[in-house]
Amino acid sequence: MHREKREGIVLEIQRLSTEDGPGIRTTVFLKGCSLNCTWCHNPESIPFVPQIQWIEANCIYCGICVQTCAESALKFQGENLKIDRLLCTGCGKCSEECPTRAMELLGKKWTAHELVNEMLKDRAYFEKSGGGVTLSGGEALLQTDFIYEVAKRLKEEGIHMALDTCGQCPQDSFKLLLPYIDLVLYDLKEIDPVKHKEYTSFSNEQILENLKYVGTVIKNSDHVKKLWIRTPIIPDATDSEGNIQGIGEFISTYLSGVVDRWELCAFNNLCQDKYLRLDLDWLHKEAELLSSSILEILTATARNSGVDPLIVQASGSTKKENSYEV
Ligand code: SF4
Ligand code: SF4
Repeated sequence: MHREKREGIVLEIQRLSTEDGPGIRTTVFLKGCSLNCTWCHNPESIPFVPQIQWIEANCIYCGICVQTCAESALKFQGENLKIDRLLCTGCGKCSEECPTRAMELLGKKWTAHELVNEMLKDRAYFEKSGGGVTLSGGEALLQTDFIYEVAKRLKEEGIHMALDTCGQCPQDSFKLLLPYIDLVLYDLKEIDPVKHKEYTSFSNEQILENLKYVGTVIKNSDHVKKLWIRTPIIPDATDSEGNIQGIGEFISTYLSGVVDRWELCAFNNLCQDKYLRLDLDWLHKEAELLSSSILEILTATARNSGVDPLIVQASGSTKKENSYEV
């Protein structure tokens, strides 16, 4: 296949993003993830295959989707549309026929050429704000060949490129991509390999090895490349001082002088509806926001863990007794 015709599956394109790197960015969320985190805020990004979801608030109960589905995967039970996910092939025909966009197909094929042209529409925003494109997921590096083409073409166009990764992928993927990436946003969730496996279904050996490799490449690069580490702070999981201390020691031992930012991202519980729409149970559905005092303690732990204290930042909503803060 001609390189520009390489196809990937994109879940969503989010414009005007300010959290996935410097300036105003366009973030491409690719479908499919190599981890299965119990707290995942984007459960629709985990399976590689497209999925259908029903948005009840948009439905006018016309029944067109039920008639359209050749697999008989849709059935109304009262005012609830039930999707038989064993029968559904993700063909998307119900979504195409739905007059109100109440059926949504999560995941769409793009060629590298199409995606690059779509990103270049936002060039003016990038130039004015110092922003660019962030490739995210799921795990973007599961579609290495596709994002390689996209990143290479955009870099040739002078666009600032960021890669948001969980690090669970072959090191060769980083070798291929890094020459075209200006900023790596690297998730480091849990330092204990046993706990990491418990929370994400995988141990963290490959993630830590890949992170060391990324650090070495950045240190030896002729061009300015940056590395941000992001740690999600999840109640009753990653929110221990031991975890933060351990991650800090890893950064100071293996990534000294390479990390520009280490961000502690407080858990939020805003994704419950996503789980409901996909007929999934969510382990953390009862979990509350982190208290501001715990986030302060963990931030202090991070700053005293051996890293440059200036790189540590905390983000996200927290609760203070009965009130909420952002
Ligand atoms: S995506 Fe295809 S198979 Fe699945 S419910 Fe819709 S029409 Fe049926
Ligand atoms: S086609 Fe759309 S609007 Fe009509 S019943 Fe199905 S989901 Fe609802």
